[in-house]
Amino acid sequence: MKLETEIKKPSHQSEPDYVTGKKDEIKSYGFECTDCGADINIDFQRQIKYNWTGNTDLISESERTELKKYYGIGLSEKSHDGGYPVFDKIVCKTCGEEYLTYCGVREFSNSAYSIHVQEIQKIK
Ligand SMILES: [Zn+2]
Repeated sequence: MKLETEIKKPSHQSEPDYVTGKKDEIKSYGFECTDCGADINIDFQRQIKYNWTGNTDLISESERTELKKYYGIGLSEKSHDGGYPVFDKIVCKTCGEEYLTYCGVREFSNSAYSIHVQEIQKIK
C-alpha cells in the first residue's frame, strides 16, 4: 500500500463525527472521490464492528503495523482523539480509486461509541 494524497488530516481537537445516542441519525461520513467526484461513504457501524481488532478485513496485519508507525500511534494504541484507531479501505464504486480511512473509535459507555474520522488518504 502506498499513501498518495491526503484528503483529511488527523487532529487532536475536533467534534466527533458520530456519537451513539446523540448523532445516531448520521450513519456515515461522506467525501468526494478526488478523481471522479462520486460520493464515498465511511460506514460508522463498520468501524465500530472492527473496534477490537483495529482494522477491517481489508487491511492486513503488516499494513496495520506500517500505518500505526506512519500516524505515530504508539504502544498505547490510542488514536489522535484518545479513542482506538480503526483502519479501513474504501473503493470508489464509480472509478475504482482506493482510499485508506483512519477513524478513532471510542466506547465511552457500554455499547455506546463516539467516532472521529481522523484521516482519509488516496492509496495505490
Ligand atoms: Zn471515483
